Amino acid sequence: MYLLSEARGLSRDLLGGKGFGLVEMAQAGLPVPPALIITTEACRRFLREGAVPGLWEEVRAKLAALEGLVGKRFGKGEGSTPPLLVSVRSGAPVSMPGMMDTILNLGLSSEGVESLARATGNPRFAWDAFRRLLSMYGEVVLGERAEVFEGMLSALKEKRGVQSDTELSPEDLEALSFQYLRHLQERGTPFPMDPWLQLQGAIEAVFRSWLNPRAKTYRRIYGIPEDLGTAVVVQAMVYGNLGEDSGTGVGFTRNPATGEKGLYGEYLRNAQGEDVVAGIRTPEPLSRLKEYAPELYREIERVAHLLERHFRDMQDFEFTVERGRLYLLQTRSGKRTAQAAVRIAVEMAEEGLISKEEAVLRVEANALPGLLKPTVDREKAPKPILRGLPASPGAAFGHAVFSNEAAERYTAQGLPTILVRPETTPEDITGMYLSKGILTARGGLTSHAAVVARGLGVPAVVGAEALRVVPEEGRAWVDGLEIQEGELLTLDGSTGEVYLGAVPLAEAAEEELLHKLLSWAEPHRSLGVRANADTPLDAQRARAFGAEGIGLCRTEHMFFQEERLPWVRRLILARTPEEEAEALERLFVFQKEDFKGILKAMDGLPVTVRLLDPPLHEFLPSLEELKVQAEAGDEEAKALWERAKALAEQNPMLGFRGIRLLLLRPGIFRMQLRALLEAAKELREEGFDPRPEVMVPLVADPKEVERAKALAEELFREYGPIPFGTMIETPRAALLASEIAPLVDFFSFGTNDLTQMAFGLSRDDAGKFLPQYVEEGLFPFDPTERLDEKGVGRLLRLAVQEGKRANPRLKVGLCGEHGGEARSVAFVADLLDYTSASPFRVLTARLAAAQAGL
Ligand code: ADP
Ligand code: MG
Ligand code: MG
Repeated sequence: MYLLSEARGLSRDLLGGKGFGLVEMAQAGLPVPPALIITTEACRRFLREGAVPGLWEEVRAKLAALEGLVGKRFGKGEGSTPPLLVSVRSGAPVSMPGMMDTILNLGLSSEGVESLARATGNPRFAWDAFRRLLSMYGEVVLGERAEVFEGMLSALKEKRGVQSDTELSPEDLEALSFQYLRHLQERGTPFPMDPWLQLQGAIEAVFRSWLNPRAKTYRRIYGIPEDLGTAVVVQAMVYGNLGEDSGTGVGFTRNPATGEKGLYGEYLRNAQGEDVVAGIRTPEPLSRLKEYAPELYREIERVAHLLERHFRDMQDFEFTVERGRLYLLQTRSGKRTAQAAVRIAVEMAEEGLISKEEAVLRVEANALPGLLKPTVDREKAPKPILRGLPASPGAAFGHAVFSNEAAERYTAQGLPTILVRPETTPEDITGMYLSKGILTARGGLTSHAAVVARGLGVPAVVGAEALRVVPEEGRAWVDGLEIQEGELLTLDGSTGEVYLGAVPLAEAAEEELLHKLLSWAEPHRSLGVRANADTPLDAQRARAFGAEGIGLCRTEHMFFQEERLPWVRRLILARTPEEEAEALERLFVFQKEDFKGILKAMDGLPVTVRLLDPPLHEFLPSLEELKVQAEAGDEEAKALWERAKALAEQNPMLGFRGIRLLLLRPGIFRMQLRALLEAAKELREEGFDPRPEVMVPLVADPKEVERAKALAEELFREYGPIPFGTMIETPRAALLASEIAPLVDFFSFGTNDLTQMAFGLSRDDAGKFLPQYVEEGLFPFDPTERLDEKGVGRLLRLAVQEGKRANPRLKVGLCGEHGGEARSVAFVADLLDYTSASPFRVLTARLAAAQAGL
């Protein structure tokens, strides 16, 4: 247990965040009311053993010292000297805003009130302080519900016909206090008039508040250890409710939404602590003080400046003004938006407050994609009609459409669309591509809709469970509200909110600052960063974000485009080698052009093309759809339906796909590889510098790789060789890395499938249980979002080590969704040669890789 002046240099773990901040502020010469801090160690002991030996003796001694510092006696007024009152405040080592309890004005009794009234000449204030103590103590220590006290207060206000409690008279407040006292008495939990007993009760209650259900839930959600305990701050009260020259407020040293430099905050005149947060009265912007209390405003500005200098970060501080004098009661590093984080970091480094390296470390890499996109202007927005998961950042509005066909129709007229689906399948790609936003009722953050939307950079909200979509009818419902085709919708993929109508959007952050930050980060990065890109447009975009090549170019997306699907379907239906050859010949022309576009956009940089991965039936309409068409007499549909039934699989994820398909239908393999090699050849003749690489998906055995390599070499003999690699995405391939590595030039870890197979869970179905799993703490995080270091990471490490031992020239990269997730990137930063992320996540990967190097 320490007075502020005795606690210099002690840790935040021991003093709690609040106590630590107070000690630091006092040390920096800022005006802080005297206080004593009971450490988290005492709390832990109390919770373990039910008592702390010697605790009360020590509190008494320190309290006496506190009395000496302020020249008042605890709970006892003497003549013109009012009694010393204290606040008893909780403060854990990590911030848990509002989760635990604080009591103000402690030490007051019915006698003390009289003396406080006399000494301050302000009976209204004295009774106001008492009734506040009674309700807070009644709630926190004696266990009465807050609503009971609030109810009595509202009833009184109503009776008097007033809005605000400042309009109540001293007599009103006195009567209210006695009403509270009587109520507590009748309830069998009388309020202790002895200040010392009050203090003991309050300290123990704050200790115990560590275990309240709210706090427990909060710790579980944010992964805060259970055994930290809370410190208790006992602090001399200062009063913001002494009149119009008093008040209380919250300030930020910079704007937490935009990062703009300058004091920002709110102030409430003639009020005590909690009133600002409680929203009982509307506070005024801090800047109003400039008009009626310019000196006070300048003083707060001066303090804000000192706080930043001392803590070297944007601070969020609480203060109280007692008769024109400023006191600081709390400070902490302020929460901020991604936009503000970038701005603050860059500007602080330019001001010389922090180093460039610190600036780089201050920005959460995962938040970067959200920066490049507009968001809904929440101040101007109506209430959202629906909430889902924020799957792909950015906000957009458009006309609701329920099919590819409708998306094309609206787009042809130059109208923006929002694609609304129960969930998406590869077949919806046209609609997804054309739309400004995507909304689904089902699916998680790694569902098809989410992954594709992020890849396309299209804002998306997925898994909006309250939404019911019936695409066949061109309608959807949210509760009773019907949404028809053409209805204007706005969605914000950064928050998961959906609005009716076209809602105003706020502009994206200034990219200049972001690029400056990244230019400071680059020298610290050794991990290569490539992009997952399937189109020339994506490739260009990725390159603009700094991608050093393409780590994954999925060729199946090229099969889904409108004019090609008929040929893909002929390929699937082909009964003779001639029929197959004809279909492949047509697809060859398309693919070659695609590859040329992408290789050109990435001229001089490596482009890794993955040969066909999904099972063939994914290119067919759904069985139900085909059945309807077939039964209506459509001959082609009939044939497709038969074929689709034959191809249907119970579990496509583990079915006839990837290398299995490529080896058993080698025509597809040859066509794709030839298209790639031919594209490169033509570009070289045109004076470009294409750098194609090819890889095969889903291998589980070296034999498969051997066979694929033999197929590839037939073409390499004709065109010259290019790097040949394999994906490592089955656990068996990882385990047999030493046998596979000598056959290839590189490994690319497909961590989406590798995670699915390592855990034995399908991410398309995981939405039903994974969120709950994480919530209940069975998994520390969602492994489809963030790489599981323990299991999947171990497979990675083993494959890299054994692979490199067997083939020292082996290059290793990662191309799953994890490749653009900051913590996963940090994990592979020293292990791999490169990571590959969707274009908008390239920035995240670059920053995270640099941070790992610092
Ligand atoms: P929280 O952890 O919820 O922020 P605090 O311990 O900061 O709780 O207390 C809430 C509010 O009570 C503070 O913002 C401050 O305005 C007020 N308060 C706390 N201690 C004092 C004090 N000694 N004098 C005046 N006001 C106080
Ligand atoms: Mg506070
Ligand atoms: Mg895969």
